Amino acid sequence: MARKTFIAGNWKMNTNLEEATKLAQDIVAAMGTVTDVDIAICPPYTNLSEVARIVKGSTVKLGAQDVYWEASGAYTGKVSCGMLKSVGVTYVIIGHSEQRQYFGETDETVNKKVKAALAAGLLPIICVGETLDERKSGKMDDVIARQTKGAFTGLSAEDADKCTIAYEPVWAIGTGETATPQQANEAHVFIRSIIKEMLGEAVADAMRIQYGGSMKPGNAKELLAQSDVDGGLIGGAALKADSFFGIVQPA
Ligand code: PEP
Repeated sequence: MARKTFIAGNWKMNTNLEEATKLAQDIVAAMGTVTDVDIAICPPYTNLSEVARIVKGSTVKLGAQDVYWEASGAYTGKVSCGMLKSVGVTYVIIGHSEQRQYFGETDETVNKKVKAALAAGLLPIICVGETLDERKSGKMDDVIARQTKGAFTGLSAEDADKCTIAYEPVWAIGTGETATPQQANEAHVFIRSIIKEMLGEAVADAMRIQYGGSMKPGNAKELLAQSDVDGGLIGGAALKADSFFGIVQPA
């Protein structure tokens, strides 16, 4: 099954309005007409409207870094799916390890967010991945299986088809350490087997699984050449148009 490569940039808590404007303009100039790779950029909430204006008419899509599952109401600090839709967001990252680690994200809240996003017509990018301790103590498969099953609980095949998974070993995020292409591929094959178990072969075959964790121009080609690595979720290297393009290019 040929899966179209999908590269997404997670800007995290970086870029003020001026910086985001410049970065988005540079990205659109460098890769706004690329059609053989799906590209998305995920700026902070405060820059979504402006970046939406910049990417409009290009092939670069807009993503958000998180969302809340309720539609509206007294949830100070939260942003709903409808709000994201209204400013032109297509994708939403859900369950990033930083959300899990610092902000109390659980498999249950991931599942609620995924369901709300799908109901609103947003496309979830669901993050899973083990910590170094979990890998060293042999719990890696259990953790990844639990996170994947948690995220996809109660989803139909049709809904699951709209999701992307990002395998992000926590020990490789922002550390400069990258999973070897073999380590990444093994994890992706395992994740795909969980999806197959839950939702069948067709959904598993079509599911795009991105790798995330210090992916950069120097290692992207080898990682993306693996049979089950269908793209990348990029942090640090997405903050400069040339390094982001250096990842999109080999893809
Ligand atoms: C991420 O946080 O999604 C990520 C992959 O970060 P980095 O590329 O900086 O490791």
